[in-house]
Amino acid sequence: MDTSVSRTLFSQRANQLTSSAIREILKITERPEVTSFAGGLPSPAGFPVPELRAAFDKVLATQGATALQYGRTEGYTPLREWVAQDLSRPGLTIDPEEVLIVSGSQQALDMLGKLFIDEGSPVLVEAPSYLGALQSFSQFQPEYRAVPTDALGLVPDALSDDLVRDARFIYVLPNFQNPTGLTLDQARRQALVERCARAGLPIIEDDPYGELRYAGEPQPGLLELGRPVGATVIRLGTFSKVLAPGMRLGYVVAPRHIISKLVQIKQATDLHTASVTQMAVYEAVRSGFLREHLPKVRELYQRQCGYMLDALQEYFPSDAHWTRPEGGMFIWVTLRDSIDTTQLLQAAIQRNVAFVPGAPFYAVNAPTNTLRLSFVTVPEDRIRAGVRTLGELIGPAPAR
Ligand code: PMP
Repeated sequence: MDTSVSRTLFSQRANQLTSSAIREILKITERPEVTSFAGGLPSPAGFPVPELRAAFDKVLATQGATALQYGRTEGYTPLREWVAQDLSRPGLTIDPEEVLIVSGSQQALDMLGKLFIDEGSPVLVEAPSYLGALQSFSQFQPEYRAVPTDALGLVPDALSDDLVRDARFIYVLPNFQNPTGLTLDQARRQALVERCARAGLPIIEDDPYGELRYAGEPQPGLLELGRPVGATVIRLGTFSKVLAPGMRLGYVVAPRHIISKLVQIKQATDLHTASVTQMAVYEAVRSGFLREHLPKVRELYQRQCGYMLDALQEYFPSDAHWTRPEGGMFIWVTLRDSIDTTQLLQAAIQRNVAFVPGAPFYAVNAPTNTLRLSFVTVPEDRIRAGVRTLGELIGPAPAR
């Protein structure tokens, strides 16, 4: 090899990507002896394997050639129609032309980064926010501005003129947020859409967990609240948590001019989402299968969540705080200021327990004393033993 010429192998964009230290540590958690509260995986106990198998069989038997052919970038029309109808409700009519099928909502996050972010563009995200979204957006080098949150979710009053000035969008997870498990309060939802409408600030509403509510009252979505007040809401949904993530199937609902631009971007990315998967999922959901299936998933997740809340109550010190999710997969814990959860993770792994430290979920100004616990895939006895180990490592609250 000629080493006399200095050249760069990768683009500047690729060079600024880093594999997080935490991801490296968490590789260890794949060992079977490790009790991992780290993963964001849905429970395989909720995957409807026989139903999906039957749906693939039927599609291949009756429409095999179409299922194996290239398709439209926008997505399989009957599935777009199904999504439009599923999201429509009194006062909110979604047109199938406003739906774009994507290869998982993660792809939508990447495409939205391409659509909206120039280098240095201000972008508003909750503090904390979904790590995968931050990774997607970061490829395009935005200037992150953090929107504060409290027990009721993000604080709309914090959206000052200075904060929203020139911002390209605000990214919001209103239901059982990843990572905190928190749900955005209804009055705040209204205040948020009104504020964004006034400021002309598009809202990206990411709602993978909305169907997995097992406590409290369902809240109207930002799309539903936003339309009447003239807010631009881009809603992301996915089949990952209601069917199975290996399908890689999600959707974007947005005004047509945004969908057309996203179609151009998606065309350049992967032409279209797998035809056979779209057709099989449509086959599986068309006759109302989710109405029978979802209550079982909700019940399973509620039970799992209860095991973890009980264990936290029993084994965590009195100065620790945690969220009580009304749905979804995550509990967020805040420990005393003196505890650095990245160090705690190192100690926990020595004792075969893992979680995700909270810091990477913050775009800016990360505190070091938070952590995310995922409870859906771990059996009850291991939840108890794992939480007990963490409680021992954290230690009792210091006497005042
Ligand atoms: N958004 C959020 C908040 C998530 O938690 C996830 C999955 N972890 C995604 C998007 C991506 O989901 P998918 O690509 O499987 O639809």
